[in-house]
Amino acid sequence: MNNKKSRLIWFKGHIVPVENAKINVLSPTSQFGANVFEGLRAYWNGDEKQLYVFRLMDHINRLQNSIKMMGFDNEFSSDFMQQVVIDTLLANNFMEDLVCRQTVFLDGFGNWSATGPIDMFVAPMAQGRYYKKSEGLDVCVSSWERINERSLSPKIKMGANYMNSRMGQLEAVHNEYDSTIFLNREGTVSEGPGACIFMVKCGVLITPPLSASILDSITRSTIIDIAREDLDMEVIERDVEKDELYVADEIFMCGTAVEIVPVFNVDKVQVGQGVEGRVTLNIKNLYLDIVRGKVEKYKKWLTSVYAD
Ligand code: PMP
Repeated sequence: MNNKKSRLIWFKGHIVPVENAKINVLSPTSQFGANVFEGLRAYWNGDEKQLYVFRLMDHINRLQNSIKMMGFDNEFSSDFMQQVVIDTLLANNFMEDLVCRQTVFLDGFGNWSATGPIDMFVAPMAQGRYYKKSEGLDVCVSSWERINERSLSPKIKMGANYMNSRMGQLEAVHNEYDSTIFLNREGTVSEGPGACIFMVKCGVLITPPLSASILDSITRSTIIDIAREDLDMEVIERDVEKDELYVADEIFMCGTAVEIVPVFNVDKVQVGQGVEGRVTLNIKNLYLDIVRGKVEKYKKWLTSVYAD
């Protein structure tokens, strides 16, 4: 296992210490944020002595879609992208939970409309739970509007989109909130700066639809599937008005990095009992079992890093 200093990343075809991976300052990625990326997670299963990457091919498919929508000259097959993730995790000999960034960027000396040359890096980092067990978030509704499909598509996971996330997050932290919830152009609930949102009302799980200017989140789609399939819940994808948040029974945010985290207050209005609700806890526990390989039928979503 490597400590942070000797962290190895895959960079332009080689596995190198992170401090040796340098990017040209004039490249479109460094000047204009011309890059697309994925945030992955891998989980260590100590009983099986195995490291599992969660839904790797789904992340790579989304990355391929981002490359296509950005008009980059693509040189990377999905199989190759999958292999470099595995190779990088193997090189680091991880035996713990981690997050991993896979970024395809515009290199060279072109401007913001260049289409190549592209290159890639894969950078893992050991990381357990993002939030502590008992934690929940105090969030505000942002005064910033979420980017939308007619300007900067939230479906493309590109670096530049996170400048909208940044504006919302800075405002939230400035006003002493943990995070924020954006409304979209239509004024309905969209997503957080780096996570999607669910609410529970009268036992029904409700989440904004893909048309609400959100990322097509892999965690969101996982939760919809397992809530229906394993928790026998009704799940509805529909527009959510801001005022519904204040009277929801439970709210939680979800994403690969944050996993599932409850929201305790919205704009200082307490959500439900102001603690992690039963539905949120059930979904979170099932999700954390699935990603670690403890639920046989969902091993189809896992990629083993080490040979059996
Ligand atoms: N929305 C945004 C803006 C995000 O950055 C993320 C994190 N990737 C998500 C939603 C959640 O997506 P996923 O579940 O695929 O990680």
